[in-house]
Amino acid sequence: MAPTRYAIIGAGLAGLTSAYEIHKADPEAVIHVFEAEDRIGGKLFTVAFESGPTDMGAEAYLALRSDATEFFVELGLADELVRPSAASSLVYTGGELKNLPAGGVMGIPSHSAPVAHLVSTETAARIDAEGDADPIDWQVGGDVSVGELVRERYGAEVVDRIVSSLLGGVYSCSADDLGVRATVPQLAEALDALAEAGEKVTLSAAVKRCESRRPPRDPGAAPVPVFAGFRGGYATAYEALAEKSGADIHLDAFVAAVTRDLRGFHISGPGVNVDGAYDRLILATPAPTTAALLKSIAPEASEALKSVKLASSAVVGMKFDSDAGLPDNSGVLVAISEPDVQTKAFTFSSKKWPHLGERGGALVRASFGRFGDDAIVRAEEDLLVDTALDDLARITGFDGREAGLAEIYVQRWFGGLPRYDAAHLATVDKVRAGIDDVHGLEVAGAWAGGVGVPAVISDAREAVARLIRLG
Ligand SMILES: Cc1cc2nc3c(=O)[nH]c(=O)nc-3n(C[C@H](O)[C@H](O)[C@H](O)COP(=O)(O)OP(=O)(O)OC[C@H]3O[C@@H](n4cnc5c(N)ncnc54)[C@H](O)[C@@H]3O)c2cc1C
Repeated sequence: MAPTRYAIIGAGLAGLTSAYEIHKADPEAVIHVFEAEDRIGGKLFTVAFESGPTDMGAEAYLALRSDATEFFVELGLADELVRPSAASSLVYTGGELKNLPAGGVMGIPSHSAPVAHLVSTETAARIDAEGDADPIDWQVGGDVSVGELVRERYGAEVVDRIVSSLLGGVYSCSADDLGVRATVPQLAEALDALAEAGEKVTLSAAVKRCESRRPPRDPGAAPVPVFAGFRGGYATAYEALAEKSGADIHLDAFVAAVTRDLRGFHISGPGVNVDGAYDRLILATPAPTTAALLKSIAPEASEALKSVKLASSAVVGMKFDSDAGLPDNSGVLVAISEPDVQTKAFTFSSKKWPHLGERGGALVRASFGRFGDDAIVRAEEDLLVDTALDDLARITGFDGREAGLAEIYVQRWFGGLPRYDAAHLATVDKVRAGIDDVHGLEVAGAWAGGVGVPAVISDAREAVARLIRLG
C-alpha cells in the first residue's frame, strides 16, 4: 500500500509537533511541512546573542501542566530543561513598584487583604462588601469579558492595576478583550457551580471556591516549580522536533491556496514546488491565514474563523555588562493605567533564570503592545530601545546606558497572539464543526486550543490522533 501523504502548513510549534506525532504513529508516512518564513519555530525564536542563545518569543512554559514536560522528556530533552529562580515578579502602579497579590485567581481576590496595597480604601471596602451585593446574573455555560465582570463587581482599579497586567503578560490584551471562560476557566467553572447549586453567585464566592479547590501545600515538600524553559532556548525544542519528525520541511514556501478533489488536497503558492495531492492536511497557521486557506474547502469554517483578531507585540532584548542596581526580581508588569510608561512588562531574565544569570551582567526583555494599541510596536527600532531604557530607569532606577548596553535585539510580533475574547470558544466550536465533514483535514495552533506552549502541543497531538484514527 502506498504511504499516506501528509501536508502540514506552518512550521511553528503546532506544525512541528504534528509532524513529529505523525512520524511516531506512522513511520512510513510521507510528511511535507510548508513554512512561509526562512526559519522554523514561528513564535518560538531563539537568537544567537554573543553571550548565548536568547529567546525573543516565548521564553517559558507552564510546567504545572506535566504533559508538556513529559513530551519534552520523550523528545530526549530532559537535561535541557531549566527552572526559574525563586525571584518574584512585581507590578508598577501609582508610580511605585509593588508586590503582586498572593492567592486569588489571575489577580482577582476573594477579599481585599491580598490587594489592599494596590487599590484605594474605597475599592478595598467594595471588594469586601461584594458578597452582600445583588447576585451576578450568571447563565451556566455563559461568558463575559474578564474586565466587565471584575469592573462591575470590584471596580476599575482591580482591572486596570492588577488583572489587565497579569492577563496582558500572557495574551497581549487587556482584561476587557478577554473572555472569562477562555482565559480564566476555573473562575467560569466556579460561577457555573454556584449557579447550578442554586447558591448566590458573586465574584468573591467564585474566587473563594477556586482557592478552596487548590490542593493544600505540604509544608515539608519541595515547592513545585510553576514554569520551565530550555537552557539553550526554545531552539532546542523546535530543532529536536524538526529532526525527529522525519518530515521534509520546505522553507520560504508561502501557501496561498488549498483546493480539494477526488485525489486529495492540493496546495499552491509562491515557493511551493510539489507534485501530487495529499491524503491528509493540517493547517497549523494563525487564524487569519487558516481562514483564508479554508475558503474553498470549508467555507463556513473559514467565515467563522475570520472573526478571530490578533494582538501584536514587540520584544526588545537587552544585554548589559553590569546588573548593579537591577532589582532582585524576575520582572515587572506595568499597570495599564500608568500614564508615563509605554513598556508593558520587563522580564529580568538574568534574575529569573539562573542559567542566564551565570552569563554575567544583566539580560532584560522589554515587552510592548496590547490588542488595539500597536502604534508602539511599529515605532522605529531606536525609539523602541530608547523607550525601553527610559522606562526601565524610571521604574527601577537601573540606568541601562550606564550599565553598558552590550547587545540589543528587537523582535516585532505582528499578530503574535490570537485574542481570546468572550466569543472565542464558540467560534472555535463553529470552525471545528465546519471542518468535521472534510475528510482528512485538521486545524491546530494557538487560536484553536490555547496560546500557551503546553496547550499548543496538546492541541496538535489531538489533531494528529484524530487523523491517525481515520487510518
Ligand atoms: C512575544 C510572545 C511571547 C510568548 N511567550 C510565551 C511563553 O513564555 N510561554 C508560552 O507558553 N507561550 C508563549 N507565547 C505563546 C506561544 O509562543 C505561541 O502561542 C505558540 O508558539 C504558537 O505556535 P503555533 O504553532 O500555533 O503558531 P506560530 O508559532 O504562529 O506558527 C505558525 C507558522 O505558520 C507559518 N505560516 C503562516 N502563514 C503561512 C502560510 N501562508 N504558508 C506557510 N506558512 C505559514 C508562520 O510563519 C509560522 O511559522 C508567546 C507568544 C509571543 C508572541
